[in-house]
Amino acid sequence: MSTLKAVRGTRDLLPPETALWNRIEATARAVFARYNFGEIRTPVFEDTALFARGVGEETDIVSKEMYTWEDRARAQSEKTQSLTLRPENTAGVVRAYIEHQLGETGQLQKLYYIGPQFRRERPQKGRYRQFYQIGAEVLGPPSAGSESPLRDAEILEMLATLLDELGIAGWTLHLNSVGSAADRARYNDTLRAALSLVVSQMCVDCQRRAVTNPLRVLDCKVPADQPIIEALPVIAGSLDEASQAHFAAVTAALDAAGVPYTLNHRLVRGLDYYTRTTFEFTHGGLGAQNALLGGGRYDGLSEMLGGPKAPGIGFAIGLDRLVLTLQAQLGQESAPPQVADAFVAPLGESLNAASLVLARELRHKGLWIELGDGGFRLKKSFEAADKTARRIIILGEDELQSGILTVKTFSTGIQTKVPRAELAVFLSS
Ligand code: AMP
Repeated sequence: MSTLKAVRGTRDLLPPETALWNRIEATARAVFARYNFGEIRTPVFEDTALFARGVGEETDIVSKEMYTWEDRARAQSEKTQSLTLRPENTAGVVRAYIEHQLGETGQLQKLYYIGPQFRRERPQKGRYRQFYQIGAEVLGPPSAGSESPLRDAEILEMLATLLDELGIAGWTLHLNSVGSAADRARYNDTLRAALSLVVSQMCVDCQRRAVTNPLRVLDCKVPADQPIIEALPVIAGSLDEASQAHFAAVTAALDAAGVPYTLNHRLVRGLDYYTRTTFEFTHGGLGAQNALLGGGRYDGLSEMLGGPKAPGIGFAIGLDRLVLTLQAQLGQESAPPQVADAFVAPLGESLNAASLVLARELRHKGLWIELGDGGFRLKKSFEAADKTARRIIILGEDELQSGILTVKTFSTGIQTKVPRAELAVFLSS
């Protein structure tokens, strides 16, 4: 029989690596709390229409990367539905905002999420079909200040703080403004006109994009197309006064806070819902897939999904790529072996139950305990203990009756007799 394996583009995360994942998630939660964000958990699958409308039919994600299926009706009262594993989480958050009428509170909603996302991309280092994102969104009615450039600057400052606290050295923040929907429409026309003169010399993807979504031409990575793209008009030239002032206020606040950034007029991002501020943080150590995180403002998304006006801004960090970056930086240190405080070794199967009681006692006092098995010979218990714990506690009939336990500390080789009542304190030392 052929052996079953994790599906291409998915993988198992195992200890000790998962300790690093947990540390990153805990740091993110702690930073988000300081900025007064609360956690949202949306379903892993949603109605396909949410992504078609929210992310955009013409994006690579919706046109070729989604895991979509017809979910059969199980009863007469049910309808067959087209469902999709979420390829990103912003659309789900905005759907929840609308569904639960969070805008009615009149307050800004500051929400973060941590969880898996799914895209049928070509797997490679740093790119998976099931990957994990840590993201956050700030959205609300305009009266709550959701359109303010201060929200953009605060989100970017928070990200700089998070990456610094995680110890990610050498990140670069790329910043751009794609303007309002009207600015983008104007730029699309300008771009279409400019492209019509040169597109015949470009790759087939660009020829298609020039017609369907000219902005996407700026994402093209084909080397031969680069000089042509560099010569195209830039979006900054199509921003109206309000969009220009908004962007200037974002950069002024970042300058004041000392958050460094690089202006990148080709950064238009792969999703259709972005307006005004767009950004990406990259890291040189990641190779071809060098984007650590991306995000931007999405002032019209709620209306696109049938909701009230709810301007917002958010980001999604590639957790897998944070882990890769930190592993490369920390080397061996990233995976310190987990070692228990003690290994309880029952001397014979008749002492198994008593060993469970002893382990329970110590664990309740906060100690990390590995429990052996009375079926092991003493030599085997010692070998197992040496690999998993700092000390071994032998529990035989004599120890059980006298209440005096024998503890051996591996680092010194010293064997000590310790009364049961003092064991927890001894093990903590
Ligand atoms: P996006 O939702 O496309 O803006 O992506 C946000 C971030 O998620 C990117 O900057 C990456 O760090 C990460 N990401 C996106 N797609 C993948 C993938 N297939 N595998 C791993 N990380 C990804």
